[in-house]
Amino acid sequence: MTIYNLGSINADLVYRVPHLPGPGGTLAARTLTRGLGGKGANMSVACARAAAHCRHIGAVGPDGQWAVQRLMEYGVDTRAIANAAEDTGHAIIAVDDSGENSIMIYPGANQALSEEEIALALEEAGPEDAFLFQNETNAQRAGAEMASAKGMRVAYAAAPFDAGAVRAVMPLLDLLFLNEVEAQQLAEATGTAPEALPVRDVIVTLGARGCRWYNTDTGAVQDFPAVPVQPVDTTGAGDTFTGYVMAGLDRGLPMAQAIGQATRAAAIMVTRPGAADVIPDLRDVQDFSG
Ligand code: ATP
Repeated sequence: MTIYNLGSINADLVYRVPHLPGPGGTLAARTLTRGLGGKGANMSVACARAAAHCRHIGAVGPDGQWAVQRLMEYGVDTRAIANAAEDTGHAIIAVDDSGENSIMIYPGANQALSEEEIALALEEAGPEDAFLFQNETNAQRAGAEMASAKGMRVAYAAAPFDAGAVRAVMPLLDLLFLNEVEAQQLAEATGTAPEALPVRDVIVTLGARGCRWYNTDTGAVQDFPAVPVQPVDTTGAGDTFTGYVMAGLDRGLPMAQAIGQATRAAAIMVTRPGAADVIPDLRDVQDFSG
């Protein structure tokens, strides 16, 4: 079975600075590190690290072959990554001595996908496969409609949050991932609590407090406490969690077990600085005694 993940691919450019520059300010950064990021790429790597076959649907620019190469090294199927004329998406991240950051994202090639490219990528997909997407590319609704028409499990991580985008795809979803803030924003926008949404499974992640799973078919609500760890960098924790849930379901695990494994994977992730490059693999998660 394959997880088709329509999502962003970014270069994360992290500049270490003594303090964050203000308006009109100029500042020399001490160090620059370039890593692979973007919510989509992070989730694809998490799926692949969790031993699932994940085909990433996305686009990079002429400067993005290194990102495709790295996704491939992490085990992601890159055949459906298009070459766009735009620059590869990137995030310019300044981090100061106190750990405070400011982030500017340039979507670039992430917004350049055509519906035809998505249709082509999904050509061989069927009801045994899953379709995952987030909110950092274009053509999401079209992709979700195609996947739903094929009977695939359709899952959406509603980040970065946009109430209109969630509303547009809600009727197509089998599984919805929200963090605590997104759940609140959605409740405010729709007047509906997670347990009353028209989506069979809703998972609300709660940071260091773990997550809550709502099965709206049965009305069951289950809490999963986080594994206590000393956090170093929470970047990518949510994406790792999402990828691991999807991979667990793909392997046929019941939801509760898939969430349990994802909770352990996300706990390891918060102890590691970085994004896609440091997502733990299944063996790390199985050996983890935290
Ligand atoms: P991010 O945007 O930082 O990737 P998110 O806001 O999408 O994250 P969170 O709710 O912060 O998602 O975290 C996702 C999961 O990661 C949580 O459900 C939990 O299992 C795990 N997690 C997050 N923070 C911690 C922590 N401090 N200690 C242990 N586990 C954590």
